[in-house]
Formats: sequence, C-alpha cells, structure tokens
Amino acid sequence: MEIIIAEPIGYCYGVERALNITYEALKSKSDNIYTLGPIIHNPQVVKKLKDNGIKIIENLENVDIGTLIIRAHGIDPKKLERARKMGFKVIDATCPFVKKNQKRATQLVKEGYFLVVIGEKEHPEILGILANANGPFMVIENKSDYKKLPDVKRVGVITQTTQSMENFISVVSYLLEKHKEIKIFNTICDETIERQKSARNIANKVDLMLVVGGKNSANTKRLAEIGKSINENTYHIETSEEIIKKWLKGVKKVGISGGASTPKWLIDEAIKKIKKITSH
Ligand code: SF4
Repeated sequence: MEIIIAEPIGYCYGVERALNITYEALKSKSDNIYTLGPIIHNPQVVKKLKDNGIKIIENLENVDIGTLIIRAHGIDPKKLERARKMGFKVIDATCPFVKKNQKRATQLVKEGYFLVVIGEKEHPEILGILANANGPFMVIENKSDYKKLPDVKRVGVITQTTQSMENFISVVSYLLEKHKEIKIFNTICDETIERQKSARNIANKVDLMLVVGGKNSANTKRLAEIGKSINENTYHIETSEEIIKKWLKGVKKVGISGGASTPKWLIDEAIKKIKKITSH
C-alpha cells in the first residue's frame, strides 16, 4: 500500500499565525478570552482551544468585557470598533492575505467599480470584505447567480482567498463577455492554489483519495470537490474515525490532502488508521 501525501500539508500561514496569537493570549490566564465565531474552521482544533479556556461568542452582548481575538477570516470593521469602544482588548488575528483582499475591495469601490466578489455568500471572509468595502456589490457563487447581475458598465472583481481556480476563471470569462470595463484581482491565496494543484495531481494517480478537514471549511470542501471531479473514489473526512474498511478494499494507492486549517496530527491519525486497517 502506497500513501501519497499532498503538499503543502498542515496549517497554512494564516491559520498557524491565528493559532499562535490565540495561544499567546491564553498565557495571560485571563478568564474572558473570546473569539467572535470559531477562530478557524476546524472543529477538532476549536474544541482544544475551548478546553484551554477560549470562549466562542456570536455577538458582544451579554458577555463580560475581556480580550477579543478576531478570527483569521476577518470581521466587519464597525464591529471591531464597537468592541474597542465597549472596552474589549482587541487582538486582530485576521490573515494578512484576507486583509489585503479587504483593501482591494475597498479600493475598487472607491474607484467607482461595481464590486463583484466570487465566493460563498455567507462565508465570514466574504461578510468581512463586504463590510469593509461598504459599496454596491454582488457575490457570485456560481453560474446560477449570473442572471442577477445588474446592468453596470464598470465591474471590479475579487475572489474569496480559498476559491477554486476553475470557478474563478469561469465567472471571470462570463463577465468579460458582458461588461466593457473590468478590473480583476486574482486574490486566491498562493497556499490555496498549491493545495488545489497538489490535490488534482494526486487524485489522478491514486485509487482512493481522502481529504481531511472541517466539514465547515470552505477550502477543504473545495479540495474534496476537486478530488471528486477527477476521482470518484474521493471522501471528505474530519477525523480518522470516519475511514471505513471497505473504502480500502483492493486499493493500492491512497492519496491524502488536507485543508488549510487541518492540523498535521489529524493527517497522521488518518495515515495510522489506513495502515492499521491494511495490515490485517
Ligand atoms: S488559506 Fe490563505 S488566506 Fe486563508 S488563512 Fe490560509 S494563508 Fe490566509
């Protein structure tokens, strides 16, 4: 049995940074350290943080004032300002690439472009970008949204940092046919591009492809979609517990890919489980 591991694997730069910031804050031993929503999209890691004392809140009301860590996906700047005014000590763990994306969106709106953001409408990164840009916009998830696009002349385009290149290209191609003036920033982060390339490459070579990561993680879901589009025998799992013996029947090569918020130890556990099943 050969196991091929995708590259890169383990946390991406932005997630690692956000977690380091969070663990640093925990050293203060304060009782009230909060994140507004989960700091990253990995339930197993978030559970560990909770066990260590991090409190996840959905809004600032009805909690004692303390330290507020801003998640890697970013936040509405008005909420951030409000937290400061209320007396929270705010620590911003927004990924610098997400910050850059927010700035691009703001710049496009200032330049008078109608903002098109390619991504998931309810994803916190998108909500943060839109709140920062504060102008006319539309979020395009896929082709079904095309018809809703208003008849505007100047369109400024950015994309969620974890979008798939295929969807980005497909939406941009559509927009190029419809609009005379378009300014496009490819804001898919390099780490996402590398992971998608690697998943694509491995899915082509293996009998079974496992994508490990939070079921709520946009970039992990995308890796699983990419894998599935190439290799029908692709499964998105959160933990090794989900690996089923029958998946490995007759399998000679297994590929493993992981989302940007998937810790290396979850990958190692998956490898261990595969080896355990196949050694019998
Ligand atoms: S995937 Fe990219 S943009 Fe998202 S947190 Fe990681 S480094 Fe930042």
